[in-house]
Amino acid sequence: METTYDVIVVGAGTSGMMAAISAAEQGANVLLIEKNKRAGKKLLMTGGGRCNVTNNRPVDDLIAHIPGNGKFLYSTFAQWNNFDIMNFFESQGVHLKEEDHGRMFPVTNKSKTIIEALLNRLKELGITLLFGTRVEKLIHKEGKIYGVRTEFEEFDASCVVLTTGGRTYPSTGSTGDGYKIVKKVGHTVTPLYATESPLISEEPFIQEKTLQGLSLQDISLSVLNQKGRVLTEHTMDLLFTHFGISGPAALRCSSFINKELKKTEEPVTVSLDCFPAKTKQDLIQELTAKSKMSKKTLANAWHGFLPERLLLFFLERLDIEKQTGQQTTDRQVQDFVQLCKAFTMTISKTFPIEKSFVTGGGVSLKEVNPKTLESKLVEGLFFAGELLDVNGYTGGFNITAAFATGHVAGMNAGQRS
Ligand SMILES: Cc1cc2nc3c(=O)[nH]c(=O)nc-3n(C[C@H](O)[C@H](O)[C@H](O)COP(=O)(O)OP(=O)(O)OC[C@H]3O[C@@H](n4cnc5c(N)ncnc54)[C@H](O)[C@@H]3O)c2cc1C
Repeated sequence: METTYDVIVVGAGTSGMMAAISAAEQGANVLLIEKNKRAGKKLLMTGGGRCNVTNNRPVDDLIAHIPGNGKFLYSTFAQWNNFDIMNFFESQGVHLKEEDHGRMFPVTNKSKTIIEALLNRLKELGITLLFGTRVEKLIHKEGKIYGVRTEFEEFDASCVVLTTGGRTYPSTGSTGDGYKIVKKVGHTVTPLYATESPLISEEPFIQEKTLQGLSLQDISLSVLNQKGRVLTEHTMDLLFTHFGISGPAALRCSSFINKELKKTEEPVTVSLDCFPAKTKQDLIQELTAKSKMSKKTLANAWHGFLPERLLLFFLERLDIEKQTGQQTTDRQVQDFVQLCKAFTMTISKTFPIEKSFVTGGGVSLKEVNPKTLESKLVEGLFFAGELLDVNGYTGGFNITAAFATGHVAGMNAGQRS
């Protein structure tokens, strides 16, 4: 096997495959090294196995959905963005469709379609693929890259694109090797933390599994700081589980919770609004109309207002589950509405990083040129994907960041080599 290339890409995941393709499109002779026996293991798992390939939102919206240093990507997205990702796959014969919240999927509903399209393009461009081989270190001298050393042998190249991913779901190959590799060449790695992670709570109703399995649609979940100020708020779906809460709204709050937990070392309060589109006054009027003259118990009079288990749970909290509508005071209706609009619970921690969807933290962006994604410390070394200190919400935002940074890093590496 040849041992000298123009560009070496380390890691055949989301960003690595795209980086290899764009480097080769510049005419570079490219080697793509992957420690697994196949490419794109994590990408295969996304979107519930259907591959949430990107998101159909304007670029400013993409940035807003990448709370971990999204602004760093302005320059990347100005060169290649979600619309280019869609065009890329359409040009490979993969038709995409849009679902809720702008999420894009292949019409086949199979991640395999996306991986196959990437592999076909890698083959078309004559890229050398080396599977089952772990890269152990970068070969560099006097601030310049010369190649990589794998567990078996050395390969030479004047440009290396590192796309080894984060530290979540290590069974996919993302075991955090890249962080160790970059530290050895002088790069800083900002502290890693779990993001897009389910939330764990020690609240008695969670421990007693009172609401386990209950899912709520289009609720709003906010994270509060110790002064009660809202740090972030998300209107999406939520699921009560045996350990706490999960579902998109909970996942989106997780990075903010982890940052707050680190700051205060105290459980963090989240506030649930079951009716974000309605005011307290609307709800008071609605409930009063249902119960004012009613001889039925509140559980019956207010039936259908909330999912049955949540309705009973709130009524029991206020100790009014047995009283009739007629017996209910205005104050009690207001207290009930207060629970519906701002039910608070504490979160003690999130899942560990390995069981979360996305890694927060990574290669310090201060040391990376935002236009080219080249290292400011080592000439010829480029970065892309989750390895960088960038993290977004699930819904295609991380995948968009990975494909786009992969494309831009690969293109610049290809041009430079
Ligand atoms: C279950 C799940 C669902 C997700 N759903 C979504 C979603 O819906 N939307 C969204 O935007 N994001 C989602 N994500 C996150 C998204 O998949 C990742 O952010 C993205 O794939 C990261 O791409 P990457 O190229 O940086 O890393 P990866 O795709 O993880 O690729 C890294 C590759 O590098 C290889 N590698 C590592 N070390 C070495 C080494 N030393 N030598 C050689 N190869 C190495 C690994 O084996 C791996 O193949 C999800 C993640 C998970 C786990």
